[in-house]
Amino acid sequence: MTGSSFSEHDVADICAMLFSTAAEGLVVVDRSGAICLVNPRMSELFGYPAAEMLGRPIDILVPAAKRAGHVKSRDTYTEHPRKRPMGMGLDLHGQRKDGSTFPVEVSLNHFTIGSDGFVMGLVTDVTKRREAELQLQRTNNELEDRVEQRTAELRAAEQSVREALEVEKELNALKSRFVSMASHEFRTPLSTIMSSVDLIARYSGGEHKEKVDRHVGKIRGKVRELTAMLNDFLSLDKLEQGMVRCNPSEVDVVHVCIELVEELRNLTKPGQQIDYDHQGTERTVVQDHQMLNHVLSNLVQNAVKYSPEGKRIHLRTQISDGRLEIAVEDEGIGIPLEDQQHLFERFFRASNAFTVQGTGLGLNIVRKYLDLMGGTIGFTSVPGKGSTFTATLPQHHHHEDHPAH
Ligand code: ADP
Repeated sequence: MTGSSFSEHDVADICAMLFSTAAEGLVVVDRSGAICLVNPRMSELFGYPAAEMLGRPIDILVPAAKRAGHVKSRDTYTEHPRKRPMGMGLDLHGQRKDGSTFPVEVSLNHFTIGSDGFVMGLVTDVTKRREAELQLQRTNNELEDRVEQRTAELRAAEQSVREALEVEKELNALKSRFVSMASHEFRTPLSTIMSSVDLIARYSGGEHKEKVDRHVGKIRGKVRELTAMLNDFLSLDKLEQGMVRCNPSEVDVVHVCIELVEELRNLTKPGQQIDYDHQGTERTVVQDHQMLNHVLSNLVQNAVKYSPEGKRIHLRTQISDGRLEIAVEDEGIGIPLEDQQHLFERFFRASNAFTVQGTGLGLNIVRKYLDLMGGTIGFTSVPGKGSTFTATLPQHHHHEDHPAH
């Protein structure tokens, strides 16, 4: 052999080698369908010695059930021979000498020698491939089953979360209905109690006057506390349901503060004094009167509640640059550092406040009102020394639908 070309002799050798070592079975059949040639792999596949196959109809290699059909299609092929894979898309099988069958793929070719036509078949045993395909199919099915199962599980989980949410919603609605019912309904008997107490005070005289007055004073104080508590619950409920809107009107801040200080004198402890001063040439703001009142009153009441006897409380207001600033300074118990970050949370009360009556709702409501008024609140406090609460809000409240220019 020279260069890159083979001699005719070489090619014949290679063909012989291919014939004897090919991984596919090779079979040549004449026009009548008789086997003329088989390679060793063919014998191996079908379990016949080569000599036993030669001269016999090719149909012996087809499973008995398919044999009649095979004879027919073979005749058709012989009339119009083409190069093609056999039985495309069909599940072809071969039958071994011992009768067992196995899946095959066959491709056909035809040729003539002289005037004799022949068909050559290339047979591949696809048992392994079919098994792999089956395995793949099984794995696919399993995977699909698993996906289906997971999807069902997810749906069930989603459903139960939804149900839990429904229950939670119902409970919440029930709770807030109860709170607003209770807050409303309790106020009526409380006001009856209050007026009866007023009457008792008026009729008390004689030797027990002092004792009666003391108890009357106690009852009044407690009724007032209860009413304030109920009012807080009611306000919070309304706020949280988004039922509260700002209703701005012109408010004389100085007037409001002087009245408030006057009113709160009843609540102060012995020796406590509330000072008030205002800075700025203007004294009116356009804000929600009730909310502003509530904020001021709550901050000053807290200062009174959380300061001991004999201490000063300082209320300051200032209007400048279109803003109202409110500061309430006390010399009271202060707020422990670790509690400061939670102060505006619902129901939160500092650890040093447990001897003082309260619900922990006041500041939460104050902050919500300030939110609605477009304001903010903050504080500084030194435990044991005192606290200063500062609220800032726009002097003129503008509705969102009537923006300021
Ligand atoms: P309440 O007074 O009903 O407990 P608030 O919401 O008004 O509820 O206040 C929350 C907590 O903040 C109080 O329990 C108290 O611990 C603390 N606090 C509020 N104001 C002051 C203050 N001026 N001095 C010290 N602690 C205060």
